[in-house]
Amino acid sequence: MDKVQLEIERRKWCDRIPELYRNVFRRAMKGNSLRAAINAKCQDCCTWQRAEIKDCLVPCCPLYPYRPYQPKKDKTPHGLAEKAPNPLSVGTLENERP
Ligand code: SF4
Repeated sequence: MDKVQLEIERRKWCDRIPELYRNVFRRAMKGNSLRAAINAKCQDCCTWQRAEIKDCLVPCCPLYPYRPYQPKKDKTPHGLAEKAPNPLSVGTLENERP
């Protein structure tokens, strides 16, 4: 695909994106903002639904720890702190009582 055709395809794609998110896509496609690229990919993946990105159910996705709209305190590696059970609050077989 030559450069002109690539630009035509990008513009066509951009026209399908809700207007609110087009600038992020354009910034991403300029190629000098990884943040914009991650945000644009997550927005596309979740059909531009912020809540879906925030509550993403794919923790094995390489973008998961970097996705936008995460709760502020979810800063642990891989963003798994809120999803993993707290070992202090969950009984184990040894310490569970009937
Ligand atoms: S982190 Fe979640 S929302 Fe973002 S691209 Fe991966 S699966 Fe999609």
